[in-house]
Amino acid sequence: MPDASPSAPITLVLPDGQAIERVRLYEREQLDTGLWMYRIGVPLWQTAVGGGVEPAEYGTWVTAEQLRPLPGIDLGGIPAHPRTRTSAPARWAWLLDGRAHGRPATVHAEGCRNATDRAHPLGTVQALDALARPGTTACTVCDAAEALLPILAHGQDDGG
Ligand SMILES: [Zn+2]
Repeated sequence: MPDASPSAPITLVLPDGQAIERVRLYEREQLDTGLWMYRIGVPLWQTAVGGGVEPAEYGTWVTAEQLRPLPGIDLGGIPAHPRTRTSAPARWAWLLDGRAHGRPATVHAEGCRNATDRAHPLGTVQALDALARPGTTACTVCDAAEALLPILAHGQDDGG
């Protein structure tokens, strides 16, 4: 099975504390929260079409908590995708739900199931402006509160 993508062996710690040595580590990616996630492939068996079993690989993402580097293995060749300050806001899209039925105006991340169909789209700067106004809250069901409130708090600190 040819595999051109760079990978390195690494030890995976299972939920029950067992360790599987030499699963494959393929890449790592940093989330907007700053947390690094690691894409691994774990060798397994699967039922073959027509009966019998065949080798397969179970792919998933884990954090560094679940991994232990192997001695002497250089992980420097593994593709890494750090979060960049410019990329995150470009991907972010927000919705502003107006004040209604006694509820305050609410900022949602795009696609939030709690946003109403009256919500209108906002850029990140507009969303922050809206949240800076009294009577506007950030939704905690979607990413709005977690993503925007720290930025807002930071900006207020800077302003003294
Ligand atoms: Zn929401």
